Amino acid sequence: MYTFSFYPYQYPFKTPLQTHHGTWEQREGIIVNLTDTTGNTGKGEIAPLPWFGSESFSTALGFCQQLDNKITPETIYNLPDSLPACQFALESALADLTATSSPSPTPSQLSHLLPTGETCLHHWQTPYQQGIRTFKVKIAVSPLRQELSIIQQLLNLLPPDCKLRLDANGGLTLDTAQQWLQRLDHYSKLEFLEQPLPPQDWTTLCQLSQTYQTPLALDESVATLSQLQACYHGGWTGIFVIKAAIAGSPQKLKQFCQTHSLDLVFSSVFETPIGMQAAFRLAQDLASPHRALGYGISHWFNSL
Ligand SMILES: [Mg+2]
Repeated sequence: MYTFSFYPYQYPFKTPLQTHHGTWEQREGIIVNLTDTTGNTGKGEIAPLPWFGSESFSTALGFCQQLDNKITPETIYNLPDSLPACQFALESALADLTATSSPSPTPSQLSHLLPTGETCLHHWQTPYQQGIRTFKVKIAVSPLRQELSIIQQLLNLLPPDCKLRLDANGGLTLDTAQQWLQRLDHYSKLEFLEQPLPPQDWTTLCQLSQTYQTPLALDESVATLSQLQACYHGGWTGIFVIKAAIAGSPQKLKQFCQTHSLDLVFSSVFETPIGMQAAFRLAQDLASPHRALGYGISHWFNSL
């Protein structure tokens, strides 16, 4: 039996984040603590992303409020799949009680999220000097022609030892996705195009991934473990983006990923360092070692 406590937090983005899902101004989440009988405390983080299909902040808060200050490991391992961010947080807090290492990736192991739009052309230089070699930009926000021109400029500007990830958040059509891929397919710096089409366009996504050299990655399609399993068994041979904080039980995720061969990129949901630590511990065991971790996001906040 552990003593359970929690506190909600809100962190505004320095500049609101523009994606195809809209404008995001403030990260809301909940830090959870489990304290054992000897006074040791393990921390975890609930960082929901409801537009990806996780529970909402208010559902997670309601769950914490009804827990009555006590919780057992049995309860934690049997939380319903409708609470994936809570599953992650509480299992992470349990693991944190006995964790010995705190992984801290070097800049070269991180993918740095650049601002959306033309400003991306002026924001890669400083992180590059700090050792960052993988960058990411959100697309499918402004008109196609404008975005294509900016991204082509960026690809030409980035030094040859850099990689670029593009994330459409499901905001392209077959026609616009083809235009992106035709135009950029010869750039070896383009590491992958993430979720060009929405999850419901599964068959077209699979066909698209067979047509061009540029690898495609699924993100929105594989937000939870059951979706990841469905896409894997459905024959996806490209990259899978794992947002550990909303994927559900880390133990079950680990079990699946260690018994199947998947090309995995771990990626942030703009959680605090508490959630990140738990995700890094998982990524250490599961992430494809040649792919940067999508956690280069601290510059989006004043402090976390
Ligand atoms: Mg994404």
